[in-house]
Amino acid sequence: MSFTPMWVSATAAGRLLTCPVSVAPRANPTIPTATTPNNAGSLAHLALGVWLESGGWKGKDPGTALHAAWDAEAARWGVNWRRLREGVVVRARLGLRAADLAQLIKNAGIRARSEVFLTDRATGIYGALDVIVDGGAGGGAVIDLKSGRDVVGDLDAAARVQLLMYAHLFRREYGQLPATLIAFSLIRGALPIEFSLEEVDELIERVGGVRALQDPVATPGQAVCRYCSRRLRCEPHWVAAEEWSKPDCLEGQLTKIERAAAGMTAIRLKTPTASEWVTNLDAQQAANARAIGERVRVVRVTKRRDTEWVASPVTRIATHSSTPD
Ligand code: SF4
Repeated sequence: MSFTPMWVSATAAGRLLTCPVSVAPRANPTIPTATTPNNAGSLAHLALGVWLESGGWKGKDPGTALHAAWDAEAARWGVNWRRLREGVVVRARLGLRAADLAQLIKNAGIRARSEVFLTDRATGIYGALDVIVDGGAGGGAVIDLKSGRDVVGDLDAAARVQLLMYAHLFRREYGQLPATLIAFSLIRGALPIEFSLEEVDELIERVGGVRALQDPVATPGQAVCRYCSRRLRCEPHWVAAEEWSKPDCLEGQLTKIERAAAGMTAIRLKTPTASEWVTNLDAQQAANARAIGERVRVVRVTKRRDTEWVASPVTRIATHSSTPD
């Protein structure tokens, strides 16, 4: 009888080591599908793919080729990149960094592929790697493109785990670890990751150990909770958030709903310390807080002033009793 693993992505593995409850294993690895890029980072990744597949990185002017790839992808998806947040800046950075990235690839091998989906049945780890370089004498490379401000400082622990998981997946594919492992920040340039065979193996073992826990305990932290899909219903998170110096969430009793002519909605919540407004909710978000008196939870909001929080498209909201899975 063959072993059927439960799967966890390389990205989720980093979160798993911080909070073992934060990741639900999947029955099948999920292959990411391309959708209309609604932010500059997504468009940058699509452009990178075209640039690699077309060989634009091998030419005399990789920056111009990468700009052309960006423009072509924007046109293909019908996206006005000038209107994307930081679209102009990210496109400019791509052009400036293209020559360095091309040189890194040439140093590491002779072939470059993008969005390479790799799986390892033995560990149940999978991932879609931004760039894989192979062939030649360079020893190969795994390069992860960071288009935003997530690596303005040091690479955080979860991002490092993700990259080491990618190195492991590369090893499953090619029989050896890549010689080069790089987080390539459009802001800071190449950030080479020092690592060893022992570190990768130890990490694989730790991830396996956490996944085998019978009674994992939630361990909240602002960074790991921020993107966790369980926030709205995770009680340890709400207890911990009371102590956070700059929380991005609140809960309270719904006391007022105000709809503006422009279609946006504001709700007022009575929290233990004050009456606080959450403004800028779109119709879909506001639909989750309908009845005065309900207990409502809101995550991914920004505090504007003492008693006002501003929602954005990533804000999620639910009544306490109907908090979704
Ligand atoms: S919300 Fe935070 S504490 Fe709760 S499961 Fe997610 S990461 Fe863990």
